[in-house]
Amino acid sequence: MAELQPVRGTHDLLPDDMRAHRHVSDRARDVAATHGFDEVATPIFEFTNVFARTLGDTSDVVTKEMYTFEDKGGDMLTLRPENTAGVCRAFISNGLAQHAPVKYFYSGPMFRHERPQKGRLRQFHQIGVELIGAPQPLADVEVIACGRAILEALGIADNTVLELNTLGDTDSRQAYRAALVEYFSGHIDKLSQESKDRLERNPLRILDSKDEGDRKLVADAPVFSDYLNPESVDFFGTVKEGLDALGIAYRLNTRLVRGLDYYCHTAFEFTTEMLGAQGTVMAGGRYDGLIEQLGGPSTPGVGWAAGIERLSMLVGEQAPAADRPVVVVPMGDAAERQALVSAKVLRDAGIRAEYAFSGNMKKRMKHANKVNAWAALILGDDELARGVAQLKTLDDGEQREVPLDDLAAACHRG
Ligand code: ATP
Ligand code: MG
Repeated sequence: MAELQPVRGTHDLLPDDMRAHRHVSDRARDVAATHGFDEVATPIFEFTNVFARTLGDTSDVVTKEMYTFEDKGGDMLTLRPENTAGVCRAFISNGLAQHAPVKYFYSGPMFRHERPQKGRLRQFHQIGVELIGAPQPLADVEVIACGRAILEALGIADNTVLELNTLGDTDSRQAYRAALVEYFSGHIDKLSQESKDRLERNPLRILDSKDEGDRKLVADAPVFSDYLNPESVDFFGTVKEGLDALGIAYRLNTRLVRGLDYYCHTAFEFTTEMLGAQGTVMAGGRYDGLIEQLGGPSTPGVGWAAGIERLSMLVGEQAPAADRPVVVVPMGDAAERQALVSAKVLRDAGIRAEYAFSGNMKKRMKHANKVNAWAALILGDDELARGVAQLKTLDDGEQREVPLDDLAAACHRG
């Protein structure tokens, strides 16, 4: 029955998946904290305008991918497709300008009505950071360094490449934009329909087109570096020097663009060749005009977002397994009551403990193996009378007597 399947492009996170997700977000949160980013959570839905204004009505997300609905009060709401807009909205709503610069980390679900395929979901999860209120290029360096440190902590930095570009300041971008419009207009008959539509409103996005014909034209298109003014060149130079000082390698990629006007200066992505076509794991950049575009005070910002599903796939088997429990195995009525108490003692001491209550001894030991226990704590009437239990380590079958009044110490895995 279709209703009993998850909605297309969504998935259940069963314990192994959930552990991998938690591993990614917990490590990321810890590393972000060492860089001074504190966690925030904004609502998973916002007024549609929050996204319509910030993502621009020509972006893929707004034109095709938003989950928008009218609620019972007649408000148009949208499930967040990304979290930068929500964090910036929160910055304005909470009057945080007086505390700027602020540094935030987030982790949570995002929603986009995309064509589902490997690595591309309709409900997916992102971690991200935003540094709001700092116009200096060192803020860009700090944000990138934090992303890189998270990839290192996850053990996957060596599987990724940092691609880096600059979109310059407003003047540079306008000059470049004009050059692109002129160039592509001269070849308009060879452009895909989608790129024709973008030509006037969002010509930078053509550089990003996946259409064969477009790509050929793009190969000979004007390059941004020829249109950068000295201020923009300086800004980018400082970013590169900062990365050099930190030993963070990068590959310059002049095709790395963001289509919207408030994106400026640094644009970057950490990409991998290990995930096929969906190779971008972390994407970010500077968005100095975004908060103003939303209706707030003119405030610069820089940040990135990374897909937890893609990070988890890269982390793969390196994610920690579940703790192996001690299984308490009582034999006899008196022992059953003692088992409850013994398990509580272990649990209170932070040791994962389970019971095996049903069937004969053989069946109970089978259960212990099934839940991947490292030890069985066997309680029999004889032992009980003497105030002890048998602790059997399951990997080697060795057994030793342990005192019931000092169980927690005896059952710590050595
Ligand atoms: P793409 O060009 O792949 O569509 P995008 O520009 O839409 O990427 P961003 O909005 O920059 O991606 O999102 C940042 C990161 O979030 C991506 O690099 C990816 O890891 C993850 N991500 C984005 N969309 C999805 C999705 N539909 N399913 C899973 N992860 C996603
Ligand atoms: Mg996309």
